[in-house]
Amino acid sequence: MNSAAQPSVDLAWSSPAKPRGSSLAGKAYWAMVRRLVLTAACIDVGYIALFMWLGSWPLTLVNVGSIALYLAAYALIRHRKNAWGLALIWLEVAAHTALGSLLIGWESGFHYYLLLFVPAIVVANAGRYAVPFVVALLAYYLGLWALCNHLGPLEPLAGKGQQIVNWIHICIAFALSAALAGHYRRTVVIAERKLLKMATLDGLTGLYNRSHFQSQARHALAVCERTQEPVALLLCDIDHFKQVNDTHGHAVGDQVLQATAKIMTQNMRAGDLLARWGGEEFLALLPRTSPTAALEAAERIREAVEAFTLRVSDTNTQVRVTISFGVSSVRCLDDLQAATARADQALYASKDNGRNRVTLAEDQ
Ligand code: GH3
Ligand code: MG
Ligand code: MG
Repeated sequence: MNSAAQPSVDLAWSSPAKPRGSSLAGKAYWAMVRRLVLTAACIDVGYIALFMWLGSWPLTLVNVGSIALYLAAYALIRHRKNAWGLALIWLEVAAHTALGSLLIGWESGFHYYLLLFVPAIVVANAGRYAVPFVVALLAYYLGLWALCNHLGPLEPLAGKGQQIVNWIHICIAFALSAALAGHYRRTVVIAERKLLKMATLDGLTGLYNRSHFQSQARHALAVCERTQEPVALLLCDIDHFKQVNDTHGHAVGDQVLQATAKIMTQNMRAGDLLARWGGEEFLALLPRTSPTAALEAAERIREAVEAFTLRVSDTNTQVRVTISFGVSSVRCLDDLQAATARADQALYASKDNGRNRVTLAEDQ
């Protein structure tokens, strides 16, 4: 039997995920900063080789200093001293850009690295400090440009040295911009997926929530109305569920809800819609299903739930529950609410007649 059209849910009895802080300035951001710091240190190793080859000892020494600063920043961020780590990164970039530009000239392209900091500041959730930081960065950038123009290169490189350094800087700036943009994109996509899940699914069972079920149901009903196919509604409620909570505790009650949701999903077709309608109530919409077929489907689920035993690993407890059903037919798109009410009445009849049974709404 195919499963109903529900996203797959891990039902390993885990509790719902705890909310985390802002994902943009959270763990992923700092992991990305750590990766970037290590990458920058590796790039500086390459620069040491380059400047030794070009015969610039001052810049070779600058890069040795840079690597030391990056490694210190990495260690600080690893130990969650993020502010100190960031301060060291800022110091490195500001000093490296200034020394490089003053020594071998503005056209060597060290200043590209300052530009990369603009999106980093904004995305790092710097809040009210973002604008002053960006303005200070701009002032530093323009000041350095003016100073370099005024002084000219203090230790110019021979031959095409400055051009070669500029080309390398351009390539690295492109690669780093792409890496940063890729990180930001991934972060936004993950956040979007999380929000969509929270807006459409029930956190405990992973089934559709009420409002998402209603919008999906309207769509499925519109299709069946056009093709004149029957649509059935199954409303079910776990019997004596309060007793489960009272006897075994709320956590076990939650596990029973998850198990029931899983059994229902497994016993429905792809294209059927299933929602957690309320506390221990579930509502299913079965397109292209006659009342007789709907009764059979409900009976199959009822038997599967009755046959299931939940074993709670910590306490060795075994819990068994039954469910009662009310079944109705939806005549048209506008009949959804009334059909739910008819299924609810039929469910009441199942409860009144002893529970653990399926009842078809009277007017079907
Ligand atoms: P009946 O057979 O007539 O349906 O009786 P019942 O005990 O199942 O129904 P009742 O409405 O008296 O109790 C439903 C209980 O479901 C009460 C409520 O605390 C519990 N419940 C609702 N939502 C949750 C939940 O998310 N987790 C847990 N563990 N319990 C829940
Ligand atoms: Mg109940
Ligand atoms: Mg109930």
